[in-house]
Amino acid sequence: MNILIFGPNGSGKGTQGALIQQKYGIPLIETGVIFRDQIARGTPLGALAKAYIDRGELVPDEVTIPMILSRLREDDCRNGWVLDGFPRNPAQAAAVWDALAKEKMPLDMVIEIVLDRTIAKQRIMGRRLCPMDNNHPNNVAIEGMHPVVLGGEDFCRVCGSDGLITRADDLDEVAIDRRHAIYYNREDGTLGAVRFLKEKIPVVEVDGLPGVKEVSTAIMEQIH
Ligand code: AMP
Repeated sequence: MNILIFGPNGSGKGTQGALIQQKYGIPLIETGVIFRDQIARGTPLGALAKAYIDRGELVPDEVTIPMILSRLREDDCRNGWVLDGFPRNPAQAAAVWDALAKEKMPLDMVIEIVLDRTIAKQRIMGRRLCPMDNNHPNNVAIEGMHPVVLGGEDFCRVCGSDGLITRADDLDEVAIDRRHAIYYNREDGTLGAVRFLKEKIPVVEVDGLPGVKEVSTAIMEQIH
């Protein structure tokens, strides 16, 4: 099962990707996580990516496209994958579409989580990362996803870890607006990538407004 998942930053796309990963036992490949890992390890790729990420801009296609295509060729992807954060523009969509066709790798499903831009922004600013697991959802702006508060300190609502992290780029409104401007751009941005794919195969649109469980049920019902 090879799946692409789309949604603006703040739509819960990462959480839903993780739920699909768990249920189907396939790797979740998140472009943003790969870049942040490279930054943490101090690699040349990380240094290059950091400058773009900090400004809320896309890392250049010449770097991102080959990085993702080679990741999809790794052994653990043989039984399928969920790709989150790629493609983010029509050029990346065309590249992945052609590469999959060339390698006879089917694209089984494309999911689009639809969410209003203002709500997506509030959700980003409320996001808190668990230091133990990137996919433990905590959000001070979403009912039902609040961290546990004890003695004035926040703890992960899933595993109880302390030291929840707020990503610097999650509090930077200018960077958020820039990221959303890329996502919601139907011409050259991510919705342009979705438009490209819609001309090729059916795209499953899911309303991102309800809670994690409802969105997950809506997605899982469509996976066959
Ligand atoms: P994310 O964690 O998905 O919000 O990604 C964080 C940042 O990584 C983005 O704001 C971009 O700077 C960079 N990035 C992630 N995916 C891509 C992509 N497909 N192409 C270029 N840059 C990307």
